[in-house]
Amino acid sequence: MCVFCKIANGEIPAYKVYEDDDFLAFLDISQATIGHTLVIPKKHYENFFALEEEKAADLMRVVSKVSKKLKSALAFEAFNLLNNSGALAGQTVNHIHIHLLPRYENDGLRIEFSGKKLSEKEFKALLEKINSK
Ligand code: 5GP
Ligand code: ZN
Repeated sequence: MCVFCKIANGEIPAYKVYEDDDFLAFLDISQATIGHTLVIPKKHYENFFALEEEKAADLMRVVSKVSKKLKSALAFEAFNLLNNSGALAGQTVNHIHIHLLPRYENDGLRIEFSGKKLSEKEFKALLEKINSK
């Protein structure tokens, strides 16, 4: 059984921020910023792609609720939402989780996009490929 399943069923303790029948939010053991929280469905799904749309919508409802609770408790003005799906994306625990990352002045966290420029032709080819699905 995976570590987040064990947290969900109480086998492993966690600092719980929110819990209902189907979802759980708890502090990440490694606080990337203060208040760094993970939101999970209690049921095991490997990653975002494994979630049916309805469950994804329910998960995001909980993310919204928990983010507001954190914001009012910790008084931050900015935060990042993050999901790593797949090893290439940095997923290390294979039970879907959304990272809630409160942001503060000089908090040391860096999330960077080093963008690639595409020509109009490349954009059009890309769009055609995507929209053929
Ligand atoms: P990922 O890299 O898969 O997106 O994130 C996994 C996260 O789970 C990491 O930020 C890591 O610190 C956290 N984590 C791993 N094991 C535990 C644990 O046993 N308890 C808690 N609270 N967090 C954990
Ligand atoms: Zn699991």
